[in-house]
Amino acid sequence: MGKLDGRVVLITGAARGQGEQEARLFAEEGAEVVVADVLDDQGETLAKEIGARYVHLDVGQEADWHTAVAVAKSAYGRIDGLVNNAGILRFNALLDTPLDEFMQVVQVNQVGCFLGIKCVAPEIAAAGGGTIVNTASYTAMTGMAAVGTYAATKHAILGLTRVAAMELARRRIRVNAMCPGAIDTAMSNPAQLDPGGNAEDMLKALDELYGKLVPLGRIGRPEEVARLALFLTGEDSSYITGQPFVIDGGWLAGVSVL
Ligand code: NAD
Repeated sequence: MGKLDGRVVLITGAARGQGEQEARLFAEEGAEVVVADVLDDQGETLAKEIGARYVHLDVGQEADWHTAVAVAKSAYGRIDGLVNNAGILRFNALLDTPLDEFMQVVQVNQVGCFLGIKCVAPEIAAAGGGTIVNTASYTAMTGMAAVGTYAATKHAILGLTRVAAMELARRRIRVNAMCPGAIDTAMSNPAQLDPGGNAEDMLKALDELYGKLVPLGRIGRPEEVARLALFLTGEDSSYITGQPFVIDGGWLAGVSVL
């Protein structure tokens, strides 16, 4: 028996990275998965491979959410799980950040998460209840220079998570947030996007770098975040809602002087 047998879960930004690993794991655990992304070719290929349905969804566009809900319902009859995973990162000092750039990050990370809750929660309630997992970041719990727009939106996702958990509990929907530290995806390891780049060498360098910063001595893997998403989507977390879950190898545990 799979941990998600009989569940229908929509995962945003699922064409690659953490979302891809969540889609793979959820399908292995018996869920019907709706892979949603703006990377149509990659998303279609993945969906075909794991027996899922792909839908084009720009999370910042409300009309796209209505389409995605319609596609999921016509394929599987209902939706009872959502993982708001899509996100973007921009590096800039606050004083150098153009308003357009700030708003672009807000539109994807923060508005996207809000629209996901707004458009999918009524469907989950109609299905008799379920789960929403929002992807924040360790920068939702602390500051980090040069990623001010990103950190602001990830802090906002924790606020949305807590309020949604309170408002939706009576509709039998649990809402939690994941706060990953550095994870080996294209976001932290852009060499993965460069066909001529050496993502494996870059991973070794990242493990070395984070080996000095993180108690567990390496960068995290997207499969590890997928397992947390599974825990928060399945029955193993049945009495948990409204909480942030840090998955960062101990990075936020304290300051090291060694
Ligand atoms: P990634 O860049 O590999 O994946 C992000 C995915 O989101 C991509 O498939 C991308 O196409 C998709 N996406 C971007 N804009 C979108 C939009 N408007 N609509 C729909 N999809 C869109 O990086 P990842 O690490 O897999 O990121 C997943 C989530 O984890 C993000 O929310 C990110 O902020 C968060 N996160 C990542 C790290 C890290 O170190 N990798 C750390 C903390 C949090």
